[in-house]
Amino acid sequence: MSATTELQDRFAAVLMPNYGTPPVALARGEGRYVWDVDGNRYLDLIAGIAVSALGHGHPALVEAVTRQAGLLAHTSNLFLHEGEVRLAERLVALLGGDARVFFANSGTEANEAALKLVRRAAGPDRDYVVSTVAGFHGRTTGALALTGKPAIRDPFGPFGLDVRFVPYGDGAALRAAVTDRCQGVFVEPTQGEAGIVTPPEGYLTEVREICDATGAVFVLDEIQSGVGRTGHWFAHQGAGVRPDVLTLAKGLGGGLPIGACVGFGPFGGAFRKGDHGSTFGGNPVAVAAALAVLDVIEEEKLLDNAAAQGDLLAGQVREIGSSLVTAVRGAGLWRAVQLAAPVAADVQAVAAAHGFLVNAVAPDTVRIAPPLTITRDEVLEFTGALPTILAEAADATDSITKGA
Ligand SMILES: *Cc1c(COP(=O)(O)O)cnc(C)c1O
Repeated sequence: MSATTELQDRFAAVLMPNYGTPPVALARGEGRYVWDVDGNRYLDLIAGIAVSALGHGHPALVEAVTRQAGLLAHTSNLFLHEGEVRLAERLVALLGGDARVFFANSGTEANEAALKLVRRAAGPDRDYVVSTVAGFHGRTTGALALTGKPAIRDPFGPFGLDVRFVPYGDGAALRAAVTDRCQGVFVEPTQGEAGIVTPPEGYLTEVREICDATGAVFVLDEIQSGVGRTGHWFAHQGAGVRPDVLTLAKGLGGGLPIGACVGFGPFGGAFRKGDHGSTFGGNPVAVAAALAVLDVIEEEKLLDNAAAQGDLLAGQVREIGSSLVTAVRGAGLWRAVQLAAPVAADVQAVAAAHGFLVNAVAPDTVRIAPPLTITRDEVLEFTGALPTILAEAADATDSITKGA
């Protein structure tokens, strides 16, 4: 019995079955590599779902977290500490100023804060929100109410929240759905959990115009796309559009749990004293990690690296010319490989057997979101192995007809 199997059995006995039992049990990481409990090494091309921006064990992050844990690990919101102020200042500066930040501990909590902020800002005459089909905003009930995935949403409703869903990327549908009774529009710059689904050019500009015309609050969920993932600090900066409210999490803490809800202009001041809170939000250790992430992105020029290695990756995958690959989507180090058949789970499993961690984000879509520190050689290590991986995955499934 392998150490992995033994641990999986113990996991299944005491952990709730909501995740199933994951196929790989990780023990440690270094740079872009992780090792499982049996000593197998993998090149990490998913980074804990676009989270481990600096890879694993980055000295700057280790030093910042270790130092802060020894100095002061927790304050609660009864007391302030300098780190949360510094991090908010850094974020506001990166976002172009005139904004205020609320710190949470996760993506879903950042969106819960955004929902309450939108209600506060919208006032009593507005009574519904708009979100997008197949969009993902989190698993707590407010964020889940905004999530346009029936399989994970429907068993837990109704949510006591009037959410109207429009097809993603469809400006006309959005225009029809948003009236002066709409509180706000929740949208991702590219739908991450749907499979890195990019909207038509100009979509975010159209969302901005529709919100301006109706007074609905434009909430942009950059929980997955933010903090360098696309080669910009934030995806909306690449699109040249500023939302009213922005939510962040995932990559912000480089692996430590932190989320943020940012309000621009008047939305930064919409909460009244006592309106919202979190015991752990703005936790000093998580904040220290986030400050290290922002520093290292700057010092190591990781925005440029994300753009360059992402282009290399996409170009190399296209060049393979596999009939199993119908498209490569996304920007920077946030990519989807669209497959001609629903064999993404096979690709994920075969890739792991070859020492590469990728993610079957949808039945026919493989997500690749490596650490922003990934090198050219590491990208080529993966794309060099990919033809074999794709061929083996195609062989492993009956749904691929011969020669297709
Ligand atoms: C992951 C994600 C969330 C939820 O974040 P959690 O930290 O898992 O709660 C929300 N929105 C988007 C776009 C995400 O990718």
